[in-house]
Amino acid sequence: MSRTLFVTTALPYANGSFHIGHIMEYIQADIWVRSMRMAGHTVHFVGADDAHGAPIMLKAESEGITPQALVARYAAERPQYLNGFHIAFDHWHSTDSPENIELSQTIYRRLKDAGFIYSKDIEQFYDPVKGMFLPDRYIKGECPHCHAKDQYGDACEVCSTVYSPTELIEPYSTLTNARPVLRSSEHFFFRLSDPRCVEFLREWVAGTNANGDKRLQAEVLAKTREWLGGEDEEANLADWDISRDEPYFGIPIPDAPGKYFYVWLDAPVGYLASLKAYCDKAGFDFHALTDPASGTEQVHFIGKDIVYFHALFWPAMLQFAGLKTPDALNVHGFITVSGEKMSKSRGTGISPLRYLEIGMDAEWMRYYITAKLNSHVEDLDFNPDDFVARVNSDLVGKYVNIASRAANFISKLFDGRLAYAGDTAAMREEFAAVAAQVRDDFEHREYGRAIRRIMAQADLINQAFDAAQPWVLAKGIQTADDETRARLQDICSRALAGFKALSVMLAPVLPVLTRRVARELFGEARDFLWSDAGAPPTAITPFKHLMQRVEPKMLDALFEPPAAPQATPGGEPIADLIDIKDFARIDLRIARIVAAEEVDGSDKLLRLTLDVGEGRHRQVFSGIKASYQPGDLVDKLTVVVANLAPRKMRFGVSEGMVLAASHADENTDAGIYVLHPWPGAQPGMRIS
Ligand SMILES: [Zn+2]
Repeated sequence: MSRTLFVTTALPYANGSFHIGHIMEYIQADIWVRSMRMAGHTVHFVGADDAHGAPIMLKAESEGITPQALVARYAAERPQYLNGFHIAFDHWHSTDSPENIELSQTIYRRLKDAGFIYSKDIEQFYDPVKGMFLPDRYIKGECPHCHAKDQYGDACEVCSTVYSPTELIEPYSTLTNARPVLRSSEHFFFRLSDPRCVEFLREWVAGTNANGDKRLQAEVLAKTREWLGGEDEEANLADWDISRDEPYFGIPIPDAPGKYFYVWLDAPVGYLASLKAYCDKAGFDFHALTDPASGTEQVHFIGKDIVYFHALFWPAMLQFAGLKTPDALNVHGFITVSGEKMSKSRGTGISPLRYLEIGMDAEWMRYYITAKLNSHVEDLDFNPDDFVARVNSDLVGKYVNIASRAANFISKLFDGRLAYAGDTAAMREEFAAVAAQVRDDFEHREYGRAIRRIMAQADLINQAFDAAQPWVLAKGIQTADDETRARLQDICSRALAGFKALSVMLAPVLPVLTRRVARELFGEARDFLWSDAGAPPTAITPFKHLMQRVEPKMLDALFEPPAAPQATPGGEPIADLIDIKDFARIDLRIARIVAAEEVDGSDKLLRLTLDVGEGRHRQVFSGIKASYQPGDLVDKLTVVVANLAPRKMRFGVSEGMVLAASHADENTDAGIYVLHPWPGAQPGMRIS
């Protein structure tokens, strides 16, 4: 039976570029969408930028631009990531759009009419200089528990105590340094504690969708039980503050001058806004797709950090506004790099754009992520050595190689014609059966299991090919009898039938490569469908190279900082002006080089062990190998950026950066010169 699916990914906050965590989620969702389409289902796959809220308003203000201009800048760079990683959204929208304003206000009005909205005065910190109420993250002060200074308004990073901002000692606004004052204001609330909500949510979280699958993963369901309680328990749901006072970049609340929806109210409505914009553009009926009685399945891919919003507020809002509720929440974990949690401030992430810029194949990343994902809320680790092994040994070594081994015999000796000796029914059934299992794995997001099945099948195909030793038959083929020729043609044809079946199974993961296989190698008029797996090919065109192996040095480049900008004739222009405060943020220290050694596998880097006067040693990687012998550096003093965020490199973590002078143009032989202080300086001294 053909299904209609409305699929979304979480909306990225539009105050920054995509990181690898976004790309992982989009790849997961894109593979699911492609697999469902290959099965003949109709899928509407949309995304949008989450554009509202205080952080975007304040960031835009600090840059002297409008919030709309800030959001537009990030929106403009989205396509190079999405196209680059072959993520095929039908539409990409923004929550700062007419559709979202209308839908958010309509949902609010319906909730209000149904008795789910009330207002009350609350006291909050207000910055009298800035003239605005302060979100918790813009208030700092002394921890009331351990008395650590400069702690955020919601929790202490030193002792982990959670408190409200009004408990901070000597609180100050991080926007103006002013002491915030308590001020009262009317806020609007969504009555999540309403018994109707609790009753509905208890049923919704435990339910199954039309296809018989659970709406929530077991671990997500368990999490919601903490909030909703068991059958005989009280629910632990607080009403939700859905309003913010001006100045705020958001959607005005109807009939409430100066009040805006909190960004988390209108963000998920953005899923519907994007679908509506897409329907208007493509000619679909939006109301038919979102009506509770429609058979459309609504599926959200999200990260584990936003379950609270998606498993409680979002279905409750939709239910009591008379709209369709979600049929599945597909929750994933985070991506780590070599076991370390990715964080912007510590800079241990992989830059998706850099990945593409240095010429790495987006389908390697798609394959790697697929091989490591499952249906559970588990973190996925990107490990460089594992990446190289899986792409080179499995993807290229086991799968791509089947085609290159078998196709040449068929092209050279049989004019591209395939022929099978005897019955092919068993082979067809075998391939169709494995493809059905793989298809089911994809539908249930057991991606790693799908890849294991595919690679096990690739092993069988390679083993059969090796055991038949076609190269032995091919040696004397010009004088061979018909039976020998037919046997060689059969061996190669069966290997290519296997290659086609594997290509069908990998089509959701490798859309570009398998499109070439379908259209160029097998001469098909369309991309693969699941039903093609059990249909052996009858001819090929001459084999073209399909995929490169990963060169390990690409991984070095992925983790190394980008090259300096190109110099203009006459030298590099001086950078933009900074003030003394900007300079003071860079903590430059004298360091003694305790040890220096070459790094296995790198022709640029030396590994330096530094004493920066901290009572411990630091490891720093420095790209100075071309200009220095390690032995000449030992015991020398130099200058290090001591507060540079630690950086995960292929060879280990680099905790700082040694200062060195060079011509910006790498092509000149002017060399690299490490800075060296005058005699008398001591490790740990600060440079100012
Ligand atoms: Zn504390």
